[in-house]
Amino acid sequence: MAVDGKFAVAVIGGGAAGMAASAVAAEYPRRIVDGDGEDGGEGILCLERNDAPGRKLLATGNGRCNLTNAACSESKELLLFFRKIGVLTRLEEGGRFYPYSGQATAVRNSLYVEMKRRGVDLRCNSPVKSVRREERYFEIETEGGEIFRAIALVLATGGKAGPQYGSFGDGYAFARSFGHSVVSPLPALVRMVCEEGQRHRLRALKGVRVKCEAALWIGVSAVGRASGELQFTEDGLSGICIFDLSRYMRMKGSQVCRVELDFAPETEERMLINLLSDNRAASLSGVVPDKIAALIDSETKGNPRAAARMLKHMEFPVAGTKGWKDAQVTSGGVPLSEVNTGTMESKLIRGLFFAGEILDYDGACGGFNLNWAFATGLKAGRSALGSAANA
Ligand SMILES: Cc1cc2nc3c(=O)[nH]c(=O)nc-3n(C[C@H](O)[C@H](O)[C@H](O)COP(=O)(O)OP(=O)(O)OC[C@H]3O[C@@H](n4cnc5c(N)ncnc54)[C@H](O)[C@@H]3O)c2cc1C
Repeated sequence: MAVDGKFAVAVIGGGAAGMAASAVAAEYPRRIVDGDGEDGGEGILCLERNDAPGRKLLATGNGRCNLTNAACSESKELLLFFRKIGVLTRLEEGGRFYPYSGQATAVRNSLYVEMKRRGVDLRCNSPVKSVRREERYFEIETEGGEIFRAIALVLATGGKAGPQYGSFGDGYAFARSFGHSVVSPLPALVRMVCEEGQRHRLRALKGVRVKCEAALWIGVSAVGRASGELQFTEDGLSGICIFDLSRYMRMKGSQVCRVELDFAPETEERMLINLLSDNRAASLSGVVPDKIAALIDSETKGNPRAAARMLKHMEFPVAGTKGWKDAQVTSGGVPLSEVNTGTMESKLIRGLFFAGEILDYDGACGGFNLNWAFATGLKAGRSALGSAANA
């Protein structure tokens, strides 16, 4: 079969993980000659479905790209890497790092320039159809019928979140074809949809933003808690604390589920009863935005005790989450137990590496997911080159 190119390392996916992997793998360009003296391949290939790499990166952090978090053990290494490729960063509330310019384009463009500078053969508009192991090589076929050969292969195709940016979950089929299992993918960091019976309340609250503490109850257990901004939508709940709780929705199954909101986490219920007993309507508006105050007032019919209880425990039964288009990340994927997390190499297939969201990892809001994509991308890129050189 005619081969359109032989490479030391092929990276499938030019997102955050794939761009980092191919840039770092190309740091030491080498021609690899295999044991029989045959020319095994040269350089690094990156195949991307879209017409440009890093489309999702441009949408991250509301266009500002929250690229890592100070709480991540890899953040120092990442900040150094980005500084080396020209991205100065700024530390903001909650340990979040952003490019100093506040523009995601700075991150995407610097990675792109670095890939080009180091000679990565980036092929856009090249969706990969299939991958297979052929003796000592991986053979990669694109939907356009091109065939590439590589000694090491990095799967960085992302998960299923945000298909409008190019990730449809193709990588799972590639991983399965090599014998890997896949933990069923579910949307995460995503809005929650409330039960139909809540629509009249949501209509009254639509658009209201409020800081609160939220707990997710599945059956009789509180499976997660988060605090931060919450936003009411016409069919459910949104905002950072809801996104963070959505990561636990995998545990729901067929059980009933609800979100419980505490609008005054620093204040005891007893104090609120005293406050509301003196001047209920005015005091309610002093604790929560007017629309929430009006809803609580009407639902508790002038009872300060009931109103205080609702300020601390307002409940919204939840039917599920929005779908992939609204999700920021995927919960599920290739289990970490099937990968050597020191090198990101598959424990089943030598020379096969994974990076980013294709793996069964999802982090909270705050830069943890890009941190994972970049950190695993750097590891996989370096190890893949090492593996190709030693094949
Ligand atoms: C709106 C939004 C905002 C976000 N904001 C943040 C944030 O501020 N901070 C944070 O930490 N995380 C954020 N995330 C999450 C973060 O973007 C992802 O965790 C990260 O991009 C995952 O990187 P990845 O490279 O693994 O996958 P992706 O970025 O999804 O990249 C995968 C790439 O592979 C390509 N591809 C897929 N299949 C094929 C194929 N068969 N052939 C060729 N190419 C293929 C895709 O086109 C895509 O370019 C956000 C996500 C979204 C959707």
